[in-house]
Amino acid sequence: MDLKELKISLEEDIKSCSNLEDLEKIRVKYLGRKGLIKEYFKKLKDFSSDERKSAGKTLNELQERIKSFIEEKSKEFEEKRKPSIDLFIPGRKSETGSLHPISIVLKEIEEIFTGMGFEVVSGPEMESDYHNFEALNISKEHPTRDEQASFFVEEELILRTHTSPVQIRVMKSRKPPVRIIAPGKVYRVDPFDPSHSPVFHQLEGLYVDEGVSFAELKGTLEIFAKEFFGADTEIKFLPSYFPFTEPSAEVAISCAICKRKGCSTCGYTGWLEVLGCGMVHPRVFENVGYNTEKYTGYAFGFGIERMAMIKYRIPDIRLFYENEIDFLEIFK
Ligand SMILES: [Zn+2]
Repeated sequence: MDLKELKISLEEDIKSCSNLEDLEKIRVKYLGRKGLIKEYFKKLKDFSSDERKSAGKTLNELQERIKSFIEEKSKEFEEKRKPSIDLFIPGRKSETGSLHPISIVLKEIEEIFTGMGFEVVSGPEMESDYHNFEALNISKEHPTRDEQASFFVEEELILRTHTSPVQIRVMKSRKPPVRIIAPGKVYRVDPFDPSHSPVFHQLEGLYVDEGVSFAELKGTLEIFAKEFFGADTEIKFLPSYFPFTEPSAEVAISCAICKRKGCSTCGYTGWLEVLGCGMVHPRVFENVGYNTEKYTGYAFGFGIERMAMIKYRIPDIRLFYENEIDFLEIFK
């Protein structure tokens, strides 16, 4: 092969070069240790000095030509290697969010009570000691204060320990009839364990008018329990004590898991305590300026998380706040 043929062969190789592999072949063939250019340079010693000069120049030119071709093309081929649009790849589903289980349950509970004529109201999460305790018949020395160990912001300012102060705020600003539910966050110095959280949600209910009776309270909560937990749910009232109601009761629902036969969830009693309630204490009415001779009323309160845990059999309250996608997706 003379120089002319070498040139022709190179141009042909360049013409047919279409990818990185071809490019590498060209590099090895011409510029490799045993490549054609090296071979030619070795042959130069057999040439006459004039021939050597012109052949050397040509070989240098060819060498440069190959180098610049490789440099230019390797960039181009690398670019091409990057993935292009593949119309056969299945589409990516766009993920939409969903309501949090607490929001879902709260919405459901609100619908049940608004259906019975209750109005949804709210109040501040930072409360005065007066609204959170004093006005609800919980004096400074009352032991209930210890049970509801609270987060103090200032001496007389706390993060509310229950939604009951909303009752006081509403009654102070309105005359009866008052028929409200007040859902919201409450705060207590509690451990963060499977059944406690320092922040959780509560819902307060209050109905005040002339002639409101305990029987109405019972009827209202029975309707709620059956609508929320299922039509076959039974409810039971157990005597209890709250400073702001008299008489007071705990309400238990029949355990849906064992159908009252007894299981670990209900502690083998067949019943689950779900809320506290009672007739509003006359002293609370006095504190808000209501005529205790004319008006009576009932109040009830419960934890939203507890309701959700029973309804959906959620074993650990912490699941609500950990925002694990797998858990949240169950409620989609
Ligand atoms: Zn049970």
